[in-house]
Amino acid sequence: MADPLLRVENLVKRFGGIVATDHVTLDVAQGELHAIIGPNGAGKTTLISQLTGQLLANSGSIRLGDQDITRVPAWRRSALGLARSFQITSLLLDFTAIDNVALAAQAHDGHSFRFWGDARKEARLRHAARAALERVGLAHRADVPVSRLSHGEQRELELAVALATRPRLLLLDEPMAGLGTSEAARMVKLLQELRREVTIVLVEHDMDAVFALADRITVLVYGRVIASGAPADIRQNEDVRRAYLGDQHAVTRHG
Ligand code: ATP
Repeated sequence: MADPLLRVENLVKRFGGIVATDHVTLDVAQGELHAIIGPNGAGKTTLISQLTGQLLANSGSIRLGDQDITRVPAWRRSALGLARSFQITSLLLDFTAIDNVALAAQAHDGHSFRFWGDARKEARLRHAARAALERVGLAHRADVPVSRLSHGEQRELELAVALATRPRLLLLDEPMAGLGTSEAARMVKLLQELRREVTIVLVEHDMDAVFALADRITVLVYGRVIASGAPADIRQNEDVRRAYLGDQHAVTRHG
């Protein structure tokens, strides 16, 4: 296999006595959609936060391409091509959809949030923001305040915000959370399209979505990787079935 885009080795994060990620090792290949699943409290969000740099690891290492980013601060990881879409919405509710995307692109370009600036730069930002909105099918809602968007549209907007930074690696933390059946189907379709353009790490409880989308799946339980492999292998893995897939908390839309 070619060198992976992301290589995580023996990553550990402790919160007092809790070992939230316990020597996690995984690779994500260029172009892959790699899902991370596991019961509540397994350490999935902690792992994503370690990848983005919001949390620093106690030990272990993270490589993005040929760079060791283990101690690189979050803002630089973003500049290196990491983008995260949050489990809890991070949108500015009183701002329009396009302003949210433009502000994220502006912040990524190394400027603090500013509303008035160089007109040409502003036009360029808005052009990029509109393209990102088009990418997720929200161009027709560009001028609508976020507070008036549906929950499903807000989740799509979060994706547009992440895409506006032109990431090499997109980290998605439960993009299907709270979506109804038709909104979830739309999100799966959107992710099917985006996966052709960007490498994705997907944390998700919706098993229909995970098995429809993933090239590979890593299963975390109590911070540890208990299995990693192709969806068909994970589905049949006895340890995984016992620890998670047989679990009521795993959302399956078709039972
Ligand atoms: P869920 O599926 O419910 O989102 P998760 O797999 O994302 O869960 P984490 O949120 O990463 O799990 O939590 C892993 C463990 O670390 C849990 O026991 C949690 O209580 C603990 N934990 C997470 N963040 C903190 C924190 N900031 N301080 C203390 N403990 C934390």
